Amino acid sequence: MVSRRNFLEKLTISTVGLPLICSTSNLFAATTIPSKGETLRVAIMGLGSYATRVAEAMEVCKRAKIVGLISGTPSKLVAWSAKYGIPEKNCYNYENFDAIKNNPDIDAVYIITPNGLHKDQTIRVAKAGKHVICEKPMAVNAVEGKEMVDACKAAGVKLLIGYRMHFEPKTLKVVNMRKNGEFGKIMFFQGQSGFRIGDPTQWRLNKELAGGGSMMDIGIYSINGARYMVGEEPIWVTAQETKTDPVKFKEGVDETIQFQMGFPSGAVASCLSTYAVGHLDRFFLDGIDGFAEMQPSTGYGPIMGRTHEGELIAEHVAHQTVQMDEMAAIILDGKEPMIPVNGEEGLKDMKIIDAIYKAVEIDNRVTL
Ligand code: NDP
Repeated sequence: MVSRRNFLEKLTISTVGLPLICSTSNLFAATTIPSKGETLRVAIMGLGSYATRVAEAMEVCKRAKIVGLISGTPSKLVAWSAKYGIPEKNCYNYENFDAIKNNPDIDAVYIITPNGLHKDQTIRVAKAGKHVICEKPMAVNAVEGKEMVDACKAAGVKLLIGYRMHFEPKTLKVVNMRKNGEFGKIMFFQGQSGFRIGDPTQWRLNKELAGGGSMMDIGIYSINGARYMVGEEPIWVTAQETKTDPVKFKEGVDETIQFQMGFPSGAVASCLSTYAVGHLDRFFLDGIDGFAEMQPSTGYGPIMGRTHEGELIAEHVAHQTVQMDEMAAIILDGKEPMIPVNGEEGLKDMKIIDAIYKAVEIDNRVTL
């Protein structure tokens, strides 16, 4: 992979892939770039599977638009620029994207690459003076996360993490109910996040690129969900790891971790993060006066759920469409979302992930 990428990065866009797609006359047929201010003009970095979903969802955004691309695969740049009408001058690779600094068309870069690359890429984008939207997990540990927060602050740019659930209507209904006291004193949260992972050669099972295993990728939803559902920050964690396939899940790549968190009010959370069990996407919040149950709770939707008052009802819109319109309002208008999505929010999750790995290592409670 690395040598292929290095090879491809040495080639210019115009020498690779053109005949594969269409005639050169309509390649890079430019879209109209919106002027600065009303629309968040976004360059997507890393044109993989989630970026494909984000880009399709962004086609119906009201305030966010793809105007640039950053990729290590020239043929993808060609295909994507043809599909989204991106001008050639707004296409970059991983070696030359610092030049985005001089590109007045682009307000923000959305980083959708493997986790282990997020820190360096975020710092480079910040130094180029562009706002950063970075996928979860923001980094592979809290030290890296802090460096990212500091770099964005120093550069005077915003750092937002791709927490799409923070804008999902049914999730927000439950959070509002909890804030209004409708569940009474919160006592318990249960989060189950997992799927059965396939291809053993993928980056998600590579410690260097993934930073860990299921906890980094999917367990983070239970951590983040516990925090926004309970409405408090945990003060301790305990955790236990189970590994049934040490060949597929190598040292430092967790297959399954059960973890518990304690909150200042006395509420507790019991969670499961796994790459070995399918169909696990469930949140349960329990208070003295009521409950909320969501399943699926963090998948691409529609999210389904009920509370002690009945079924949760809200129109389903692609999460990434809502997310990008809301992020445009955060960046362009200074809007404050109900559940934060800034770098500090991402950093809180990284600190908890570090503590969970530590708790597994020492087989004991870790205080946060
Ligand atoms: P993919 O493997 O599908 O795509 C990652 C892309 O990153 C690649 O296609 C490639 O794009 C680029 N890349 C750059 N360097 C490398 C490298 N060394 N190895 C592999 N790819 C590289 O991953 P996903 O799209 O599923 O995940 C990307 C990020 O998005 C992760 O951080 C993940 O956690 C997050 N994610 C978030 C989701 C959410 O719901 N919020 C859902 C799914 C993922 P190119 O060829 O253009 O350079």
